[in-house]
Formats: sequence, structure tokens, C-alpha cells
Amino acid sequence: MLSWEEFESSEKRKNQPEQKKLEGKEIKEPQLTTKREENAINMLPGQVSDRLARAKKEISKFDQKMGEDALSGMETRVHVDQKAMINCRADVNQLVPFKYEWAWQKYLDGCANHWMPQEINMTPDVALWKSEDGLSEDERTIVMRSLGFFSTADSLVANNLVLSIYRHITNPECRQYLLRQSFEEAIHTHAYQYVIQSLGMDEAELFNMYREVPSVARKASWALNFTKGLDDPQFSTGTTEQDKELLRNLVAYYCVLEGIFFYCGFTQILSMGRRNKMTGTSEQFQYILRDESMHLNFGIDMINQIKLENSHLWDEEMQEEAACMILQGMELEIEYARDTMPRGVLGMNANMMEEYLNYIANRRLVQLGLSEEFPNAENPFPWMSEIMDLRKEKNFFETRVIEYQTGGALNWD
Ligand code: FE
Repeated sequence: MLSWEEFESSEKRKNQPEQKKLEGKEIKEPQLTTKREENAINMLPGQVSDRLARAKKEISKFDQKMGEDALSGMETRVHVDQKAMINCRADVNQLVPFKYEWAWQKYLDGCANHWMPQEINMTPDVALWKSEDGLSEDERTIVMRSLGFFSTADSLVANNLVLSIYRHITNPECRQYLLRQSFEEAIHTHAYQYVIQSLGMDEAELFNMYREVPSVARKASWALNFTKGLDDPQFSTGTTEQDKELLRNLVAYYCVLEGIFFYCGFTQILSMGRRNKMTGTSEQFQYILRDESMHLNFGIDMINQIKLENSHLWDEEMQEEAACMILQGMELEIEYARDTMPRGVLGMNANMMEEYLNYIANRRLVQLGLSEEFPNAENPFPWMSEIMDLRKEKNFFETRVIEYQTGGALNWD
């Protein structure tokens, strides 16, 4: 058995820090030699471990490879005129010199608009959603359908960006924006999940709507059709037909999915917010809409730049195909409007939405340099234009963007 003195001195030893202070000076305790140090001591001068010897050998092989690459011209500095949107052979790791200032500017603007879903107060929405007579049945359907469609739509866009588009766009400033856009798509999916969770909705029902509810499923599978082929690791651009396939994907995702399929749901939810209902959800949608306007404009700039650099791709057949895709998207969105608004609700009805979608389709056609399909279409929701079209829905080929936020906050009307 230990005596008290022995116990106390052994406890002191255990509790002593490695360094102890004596008269204001720090005195280091002698440390035991580690196994590693012991090995080093036992090693002869100039002798190295097997592992280090292998590492040194690999480095010398690597140096040899670098020398070969330098001789084959891989180290050449990039000049602006070598840069191109697609099929470019210049080094994609050299961001500058910029060729497409508009792409870099959009990246900066996207960063300036950064926001997160948790910053928005969802308390009033929770109370309204859970109260018996807070919302009408038609209004509840609109909230459910919107969250059902959007909760997966932004994932479709994100996956298409990362798995299909990114590797075929061979310009670093555009890629920089694509990376920013991909993160924004993740934030949007997060926002929908956050709303669904806050309102205590049936998550399985909502996240499966893109397969189970026909008007939602048709939009999602229409877009997915254009991903097929491009996400094949064997696919590459380089021939007219393959480059056209990429163009089709860009038109489908930027002009139709983000440029038409989002419009009925956005209009419905923002109309709800204007009536002081589901204000948190509406605010989430406003932030998303601000990002989406930029995604759309970037996509249109990108398509127009590809057309400019590869005019042979934009032949009559391709123009006809792109116009037809925009009209198909419009038709599917009108069907969605009829499904979600069997009666008038929130100061609008399906016929008004149809007219609005004619107007939106006209805009998409004109943005791609094609002629309008509905010369007399007018915008029945001028307040939507006030929120997005006029202030933010501008692109490089039309005119410069006139307004951006410099912080996370929105400008409400
Ligand atoms: Fe988007």
C-alpha cells in the first residue's frame, strides 16, 4: 500500500504540465526520446527511410514528366484570343486574362447577393399553415405543388451543371460562375427543404411529386431528357452534332427550366406574399428568384456567345428546334398552371397565367435572337416585372444590368 507521501508525490507528477514556471522563467521538462527520434539517431549519415526513398524516386519521375510536358507546349501562357466557350485547348486553370468580362462580373454579382435560408423568419408561416382557416384549399394546393416542384427542380439543375455542362464549357471565367451557380442551386434546395421542415409537411410526398404528380413530373422528365447523353463520360463536344447537343441542353435548362418552368410557381407564391400570406416562404422565393434571374441571364449570354463563335451551329434547323423547345416548355407550364389553379385564386387564374407565359416565351425567343410567337401578348402581372424583369432580367447582349444588391438584403417594393 502507498504511504500518503508516496501517493502525493505520484499525483503531483501526473498533474504537472510539461512546462513549469520558475521565478517567471519557463523551464522545459526533459522529454523522453520518441520511437521516431530513436530511429533517426540510429540511422547512418545520409541514410533515409524506405518510405522517403520511395517518395524521392516518385518526385524524380514526376520531374521527368513535367519536363516532357514543357517540351510538348503544355506550359505555354494563355493569350486572350486563345480562349473560347467550347472546344478550347488553352489551359483552363488560368483565370486571367479575362475574355468574357460579363461572366466574371456575374460571378462577383452572385457573390454580392449571398444569402442563407435560415436568415428568414418562418414563424408567421408556421402559424398560418397550421391554423384551420388560415389558407383556402386552393391556396394550400399552390403551396404544396410549388414546394413539390421546386424541391427537386433545383437539384436537377445542379446535377446537370456539375455532371453535364461544366466539363464542356472550356472557359475559366464561365466555369467560375458555374461553380457559384452550383452552390446557389444547393442553397435553393436547402431553402425548400427548410420551408418543408418548418411547416411540418410530409417530406416523402413533397420530394416525390416530381415523379408522382403528372403536371410536375412532365416538366421534370422533359428537362431530364436533355441531360441524357451529355452526362455519359464518353460524350465529348467537337463535332457539329455533338456541339448542337450541348446547345440543346443549355436551351432546355437555362431558357426553359429556369426561364419558363419557374414562372407559374414563383408568381403564385409571390402573389401570396403580396397578400400578406406565407410571407417567410414568399421571401425565400424572392431571394431565389433574384438568383434565378441571374442564372437565366448568364445562360442566355453563354448561348449567344457560343452562337457568335460557332455560327455554323445556329443554322435554320437549330433555330427552329430552339424555338420549338421554348414553346414546348410554355405548353407544359400552362398545363401546370391549369392543374394548380382550377379556379381563380390570389387575384389570378389559369387564363391570365397563360397570357403571362406567352409573354415570357416571347422574351425567351427574342433573347436568343428569334422572332416572337405571340405579337399581342401582354404582361398581366406588371408587379412581377417590377420585381424581376425590368430591374434584373437584363443580359449582356441586351443591355448592362442596371441594379445589383451589394449585401444579402432584398429591396421590397
Ligand atoms: Fe438556378
